Amino acid sequence: MLNNKTAIISGASRGIGRAIALKLAKDGANISFNYLKSEAAAKELESELKSRGVKAKAYQVDIKDFAAVNQWVNDTKEYFGQLDIVVNNAGIIVDKALGLMEQADWQSVIDTNLGGLFNLTRAVIITFIKQKSGNIINISSVAGMTGLPRQTNYSAAKAGIIGFTKALAREVGSYNIRVNAVAPGFIETDMLSGLNDKYKQEAKKHIPLGRFGRPEEVARVVAFLASDKSQYITAQVMVIDGGMT
Ligand code: NAP
Repeated sequence: MLNNKTAIISGASRGIGRAIALKLAKDGANISFNYLKSEAAAKELESELKSRGVKAKAYQVDIKDFAAVNQWVNDTKEYFGQLDIVVNNAGIIVDKALGLMEQADWQSVIDTNLGGLFNLTRAVIITFIKQKSGNIINISSVAGMTGLPRQTNYSAAKAGIIGFTKALAREVGSYNIRVNAVAPGFIETDMLSGLNDKYKQEAKKHIPLGRFGRPEEVARVVAFLASDKSQYITAQVMVIDGGMT
């Protein structure tokens, strides 16, 4: 389905990004991805992807660093020879009630989740416009749709991603570039490690399917959006939340 395509994925050393990398590789894509801290996990993923017969390269790049992201994209174009798919996935949470939120808590979440998306998309967009093709998939969250308490920073960033997705889809559709977002609900990754069992049990009561999602269940939707099976879909937000919202 994605044979000979190259995908660039932010934040793929763990969690949802890792599952997306494995799924897109399974579908035939070569994978360039970045990470910040999880060096061992990133190297392990790079090897695993290569063992599946695709080209793969891990880059230690802070998604907040505009110049470094640009360098990563340039190196990717040179190493892989082309660029077709972007997945803006890197994200963090710093959950606090607004009355306790420091300016740094606000800024780090906005700069990583929303600023990082700007940095990577800005670095690829001219290439996509020139080649008159490209596919951008942004990882938002249900927090960006309904808002979640103690996540004003994260909800604002994730809502911003939805606005960005819709605006860019209108801007570049005529160049055969599609831009979509997915909005996962609770997905079992390290990001949920701060939630205690009582909170998790309570949250599951509000999910019609009665359980949290798995990273692979998000990855399958991203792979669909990355493929020609979705070639008439753009400017959309696909919710993957077990019915929660
Ligand atoms: P995760 O398990 O915590 O993984 C986050 C990934 O992002 C890691 O690979 C991490 O790399 C990378 N990352 C963080 N900051 C970075 C930076 N400054 N530069 C480069 N890479 C960075 O999180 P996840 O649950 O997989 O989340 C992935 C995306 O899905 C995020 O955008 C998140 O907001 C979104 N999401 C998650 C859920 C959920 O319930 N899990 C729900 C909705 C949306 P290192 O480990 O190397 O630092």
